[in-house]
Amino acid sequence: MNRTKSAAAHARAQKVIPGGVNSPARAFGGVGGIPITIARGRGAYLTDIDGNDYLDFIGSWGPMILGHAHPAVLEAVIAATHDGSSFGAPSEPETELAELVVEAIPSVEMVRFVSSGTEAAMSAVRLARGFTGRDLIVKFAGCYHGHVDSLLVSAGSSALTLGVPNSPGVPKGCTADTLVLRYNDVVGLREVFAAKGDAIAGVMLEPVVGNMGLVLPSPEFRAELRRLTRHHGALLVYDEVMTGFRLAYGGAQELLGDDPDVTVLGKIIGGGFPVGAYAGRADVMKKIMPAGPVFQAGTLSGNPVAMAAGIATLKQLTADPPYSRLDRMGQQLEAGLRAAAADAGVPVQLNRVGSMWTLFFAATPVTDFDTAKTADAKRFARFFWAMMDRGVYLPCSQFEAAFLSAAMTDADVARTIQAARAALAEVA
Ligand code: PLP
Repeated sequence: MNRTKSAAAHARAQKVIPGGVNSPARAFGGVGGIPITIARGRGAYLTDIDGNDYLDFIGSWGPMILGHAHPAVLEAVIAATHDGSSFGAPSEPETELAELVVEAIPSVEMVRFVSSGTEAAMSAVRLARGFTGRDLIVKFAGCYHGHVDSLLVSAGSSALTLGVPNSPGVPKGCTADTLVLRYNDVVGLREVFAAKGDAIAGVMLEPVVGNMGLVLPSPEFRAELRRLTRHHGALLVYDEVMTGFRLAYGGAQELLGDDPDVTVLGKIIGGGFPVGAYAGRADVMKKIMPAGPVFQAGTLSGNPVAMAAGIATLKQLTADPPYSRLDRMGQQLEAGLRAAAADAGVPVQLNRVGSMWTLFFAATPVTDFDTAKTADAKRFARFFWAMMDRGVYLPCSQFEAAFLSAAMTDADVARTIQAARAALAEVA
C-alpha cells in the first residue's frame, strides 16, 4: 500500500506539532511506523490522503457510532451553524440535549456540559470532593479518565501504550489524595474502605474498561463498589465517556443494571464534536455553581453547533437503535477471530461487549491492568500492520478498545475476519 503522501504530511506536521499529532494515541507509538493522515470519512470507511480506503474500527476513539458524515448529523450541524456558532449565553439546544440525557440514563437527573471527557472527569472529581467535603479519590490501575492531573496515575490508553502511565509534570501533591487499586479486586476495595472509607469523596471507574483494552467488571466487584460507597457516604462515579450510548442507549449502567451517583460522559454525546458532560443525582448536581458553591465554567460549554450534533446523534440512536445489530455483528466477529487465531495456532484472548472489543495476544484471561500487560506487544504490532495492509484500521495498541459502527455491514465483518485470518497466519 502506498503511503508516501501520509509520510510527507507527518514529516511536515512534526515540525510544528509535537510528535506531529494533537493526541498521542494517533502517533502509532505502540506499533512503530508512520500514522496515516486522513482526507475524509464516509460511513464505516476512512480514506487517507494517498487515496487508500480503510474499514474504520477506531471511529475517532469512540464517538462515531453512526459512522462518518452521517446525513442527519451533517444536516443538523449545517443548520445550527447558520444561526451562529457560539453565544456565551443560554440556548435551547443545551436544554434539549440535557433532557435527552436525563431520559436515557435513569440515574441522571441533571447534566452540566463541558467540552471534553477530560474536563468532565476533572469536574466530577471536584464535585465529589465539594459535595462530600472529603479529599480522597479512588481510581483503578489501567483506567483512563483523560489527562486530569489527579487521575493521571497508573493510567491506561496512550499513557500506558507510550510507557508513561504517570506523567512528568504532575506534582506529587496533585496525586497525594488519589488511591489506586486493582480493577476487579474486591479484597483491596474492602481493605481501603475499612482503613479510610469515611475520608473517601468518591470512587471513579470505567464500568466496562476500554482503556487497558476491553476489560469487564465482575458482578461482585460492582456490587461491592455500590455497597461500600453507599455505606461510607462516598460518591460512585461511572466514567462512561466511552461506554455511554455505546454499550446500550443508557450506557454500561443500563446494560449492567447499575445505579451510580455521578456519570461522566463524552464522545458519542457530541456526535463527533467536542462535548463532555457530567451528570447525576439532582442533590449532587445542585452543588455546581451557580446553583451551588462548586466552581466550574467554560467559554464553549454547551456550544450550540456541538449540541446540534449530539441531539441529532441521540435522536438517530433512538429512532433506529443499532445495539442489537451491533452485538450480533460483534458476536460474528468474535467467533471468526477466535477460529482464525485457533487455526493459526496463535494464543489470544478476545474480550468483547456489544460493539467494543479487544484482541489481546495473551495466553491467559485479561481481567485487570497486570494481566493486560502480559499481552505480546511485538506480535500485536505485526498483526496491526498486516491488517492495515489489508485495509482494516484497528486501534494501534492492545490497551485500547476497537469499535464496530452502525455503518458497518455483515460483509464488512466477513472482510475483517478474512483479513485477520491472513494476518494471524503471518504473525504465527
Ligand atoms: N474517560 C474515558 C473513559 C475515556 O476513554 C476518555 C478518552 O478516551 C476520557 C475520559 C477523556 O476524554 P477526552 O479525550 O474527550 O478528553
